[in-house]
Amino acid sequence: MMQTQSDSEKRIARRGLILILSSPSGAGKTTLTRAIARDPAWALDLSISVTTRTRRPSEIDGQHYHFIDREAFDDLRARDDLLEWAEVHGNFYGTPRRPVEKVLGSGRDMIFDIDYQGTRQVRAKLAEDVVTVFILPPSMAELRQRLERRAEDSADTIERRLANARTEIQRWSEYDYVIVNDDLQNAFEALKGILAAERLRRTRRTGLGAFVDGLLAEGGG
Ligand code: 5GP
Repeated sequence: MMQTQSDSEKRIARRGLILILSSPSGAGKTTLTRAIARDPAWALDLSISVTTRTRRPSEIDGQHYHFIDREAFDDLRARDDLLEWAEVHGNFYGTPRRPVEKVLGSGRDMIFDIDYQGTRQVRAKLAEDVVTVFILPPSMAELRQRLERRAEDSADTIERRLANARTEIQRWSEYDYVIVNDDLQNAFEALKGILAAERLRRTRRTGLGAFVDGLLAEGGG
C-alpha cells in the first residue's frame, strides 16, 4: 500500500474528518474499523460508543464499548452529552460528544462504527467533515455464515440480525462510498484508499492557500 502521507503534505494544516463505517452486522465493519484504527500509520482515533447491550464474552468494557445501563444512557441523553444516538436491535447506542470535539479540535481524524440512523445525525451536524462508507456482504448466505461462525449471539439474536440486515442494506445509497467485503484484505486496501484521498480533499485543507503563497513567493522556479 502507498505511504499514508508525505511530510510536506502533513505540514499543511487541515480540518479533521470523521470517517463513518456502517453495514449490517457480520459484514466485517467492526474488523475493518479496528484494523485501521489500530495502525498508528493512519493516525485515526476510534470513537467508543456507549451501549445498553449486554457485553459479549470477547468484548472489553471501555475498549469495544462503554457498557452502561438504561438509566445512565438516559442521563447522557438528557445532558446532551451524546453527539447522536439510536435504538438498534432493541438496545440503545450512542456516541459520546466530548471525545469527538476534542479530536476534531486538534485537527485529528476519528473513525466511527455506527448505524445509518446515527450517520444521518452526525452528517446533519458536521456536514462537510463527514465521510461515509457502507460495507456490503458478498451474499446473504455469507452474511448468515459469518454471524453463525461468530457464535457469540443466540440463534434468536442471529435471526433478528439477519432480518434487520435487509433493512440496513437498503440504506446503501445514503453513503459516499460502498465496499463489497468478499475479501478482508481487499476491503481494507479500499478503505485506506478512501481515507488517503479524503485527506487530500482541497476543501478540508485550510493551510493550502498559505502553502501556495509560499511557493509563489519563492525566488527562482
Ligand atoms: P453490535 O451490537 O453488533 O456491536 O452493533 C449493532 C449495531 O449498532 C451496529 O450496526 C453498529 O454499527 C451500531 N452502533 C454501534 N455503536 C453505535 C452508536 O454509538 N450509535 C449508533 N447510531 N449506532 C451504533
